[in-house]
Amino acid sequence: MSVLGVDLRASRKKPSAVAILDSHSHLSELRSFYEDSELTELVDNIRPGLIAIGAPLNLPSGFCCLDQSCDCRFSVPDRKGRLLELELAKMGISCFYTNKGSIIRELIYRGIRLSRDLRDAGHEVIEVYPHATKMLLFGDKVPPKNSAISVSYIIDHLTPLVSGMEKHADDLDRNTCDAIINAYTGQLHAQSNTDVLGDPDEGILVLPKMPN
Ligand SMILES: [Zn+2]
Repeated sequence: MSVLGVDLRASRKKPSAVAILDSHSHLSELRSFYEDSELTELVDNIRPGLIAIGAPLNLPSGFCCLDQSCDCRFSVPDRKGRLLELELAKMGISCFYTNKGSIIRELIYRGIRLSRDLRDAGHEVIEVYPHATKMLLFGDKVPPKNSAISVSYIIDHLTPLVSGMEKHADDLDRNTCDAIINAYTGQLHAQSNTDVLGDPDEGILVLPKMPN
């Protein structure tokens, strides 16, 4: 089945990247969108079997929002974030904790809204984390996302896994690469080659199957 990967940006003023992989992990399309409605229209047209979004798609248990002035709080005492984030940290994979001090609050709100809209429309949506996928597939020598060699490193490592990258060479930047990574994680999930972290109440993260 085809999988649509999304590298979601917090701001609608910046393009969010979309990568579509067919059932043979061939990159069939790279797209971008600004407004959420552009993505829902694209999804309605393409009808992928799975949508993999690289952003938090749920709040921690006990939270109704991330507003400091609201009384909602972690239902488990002494928590810093969602269970999946604590589990990532134990694996040595850094991430942003979803809590009221989050610096990616707008991205979290957008991810929650967008995934809810897509699920309401009958689409299957999973949460993925490109940094975790890269660490598990490529090892812990992955250069930081903002470094100059990051994009070429990721392209070199993705090319054996995803065919058709050459055709899009001019459009490959760190955001489109993350969209491809997210779609590829979704493709692994469709093939039952993934593990999951977390608690269904506050979000499940899909990762490439961990070596035993
Ligand atoms: Zn609240």
